[in-house]
Amino acid sequence: MTYGDYTGPDKPDKGTEGGSCNRRLCQAPGAIWFNHGSHSWYCPDCRSDIENDEFNRREWERHFYPKKEHPMFETREMIDSRAGKNADIEHMEAVKCSPGSPSPS
Ligand SMILES: [Zn+2]
Repeated sequence: MTYGDYTGPDKPDKGTEGGSCNRRLCQAPGAIWFNHGSHSWYCPDCRSDIENDEFNRREWERHFYPKKEHPMFETREMIDSRAGKNADIEHMEAVKCSPGSPSPS
């Protein structure tokens, strides 16, 4: 399934970790990329679409990266390894989104 193929109603697990992609016209299963802008999860295809979009990339580099110093999208593993060094508020928000996973501290 690629972006634009899905026209049904929103799935109950849309935008959740490991659930369906947060993009309304995609909602493919296997959302493993966390977006720090929308605080939702996306499938690998949409992640590269969004991250490689010229406008999004410029916005992120100009307004967000100087403060946050991490990529627009991260997997759970990337968030965890970064949080191991310096836990920050972004990490807390990401943890909150996944009630199934144990608290790291
Ligand atoms: Zn998607």
